[in-house]
Amino acid sequence: MDNVFNSALDALNKAGEIASIDPKVMKLLSRPKRIIDFSIPLKMDDGSFRLFEAYRVHYNDALGPTRDGTRFVPNLHIDEVKALALFMTIKHAVSGVPAGGGKGGIKVDPSKLSDWELERLTRGFIRNLKPKGPKIDIPGADIGTDYRTQSWMLDEYEQITGEHNPPAINDKPNIMGGTVGSAEATGLGIFYVTKQACEDNNINLKDEEIVVQGFGQVGATIAGYLHDLGATITAVSDISGGYYNKDGLNIPEMMEYAEKNKGLKGYEKAEKISNDELLTQECGLLIPAAVQNVINKDNADDINAKMIIEAANGPITPDAENILKDNGIKVIPDVVANAGGAIVCHYERIQGITDDFWELDKVNNRLNKQILNAYVNARDTANEFDTTTRLGAWIVALRKVAQAVKMRGWV
Ligand code: NAD
Repeated sequence: MDNVFNSALDALNKAGEIASIDPKVMKLLSRPKRIIDFSIPLKMDDGSFRLFEAYRVHYNDALGPTRDGTRFVPNLHIDEVKALALFMTIKHAVSGVPAGGGKGGIKVDPSKLSDWELERLTRGFIRNLKPKGPKIDIPGADIGTDYRTQSWMLDEYEQITGEHNPPAINDKPNIMGGTVGSAEATGLGIFYVTKQACEDNNINLKDEEIVVQGFGQVGATIAGYLHDLGATITAVSDISGGYYNKDGLNIPEMMEYAEKNKGLKGYEKAEKISNDELLTQECGLLIPAAVQNVINKDNADDINAKMIIEAANGPITPDAENILKDNGIKVIPDVVANAGGAIVCHYERIQGITDDFWELDKVNNRLNKQILNAYVNARDTANEFDTTTRLGAWIVALRKVAQAVKMRGWV
């Protein structure tokens, strides 16, 4: 089984070697700064008792407080949380966000809990984690968490501390002190980067067939923006499988269907294919927007796309990336492509601290500029070192982290 933390370390080590990053800094970054491994006791609605495994990883905080998501998934593993926290360290650094990398989660299938159980579990996450506040570590949302869970997290934090403090939790709704545009931020950022990457590689989006794996917050949003632009989305999928139409799917209708039915299961106006078949469809752009390691050594040779945009975190294993490179398939990496959410979380923090809330145009214009800047730096650094855009992005980030680590006198 591919281990996503090993994939993250592979990128770290390759980038460190190419850019001659100080070995002492590389050693420091080979492990997280702090791992919090804790348990959450929960009384279920039927009176029974369950104990849930939970984690929070602070990977590196040389550039600022650790920040980012909380994943509620049934197969959560500590290595996944470590990898995601390292990705966040890199993502913040390459995007110019003054934050370190953090990630957390609970090993749970939230769809199997009642609303009350989910609320008690989410509040239990905050009570048992005892987060230290917005100057130290800020939990946000990820797979399985949303505006509701983030609102409970903030309320629990504020009940414990007795003070209003919106910047303590990220990805909350506007009414709780969040920012407008946060739900779409990751998808919109991917859209901005995709347009630029297509222009750079002489791909005309409107002429291409596009395939998207995952139809959640990120996948459905990016599919929606591309559809609105006039592109043809021939296949999408979720956990229930793939949906294909060679003439193009009706994405707005599928978004409505998925919203109403909590997923695409039962959608009948498309040919049904498997998730494996979906990944190997002939297309211009393949956008994995679900989970890690879906493109691996077993299927990489069958990928039939001109370019892959990594909307998910870690969807391509290092072995697969080598095969894709040999086959001339360009990859736009996760740490740049999906940084929109992390960037807008930074705007959420600024607004929460100042109590000065922005218009949507301001959020989106700043996002456009900031994420394109990250992409262009990664692209140009990749060209400078004759390497992949992924390693270009990691080099940009590592240079900044290394500088901060040294200025602080840690190595
Ligand atoms: P989500 O829970 O809203 O959606 C996940 C989607 O993937 C769902 O449609 C689900 O059915 C599908 N899925 C799950 N397992 C699958 C499988 N094995 N095969 C095919 N489809 C599967 O999650 P999301 O917020 O859209 O996140 C998707 C990915 O994007 C994750 O890797 C996440 O870490 C990454 N990401 C999310 C954000 C964000 O702001 N939400 C930001 C950066 C990166």
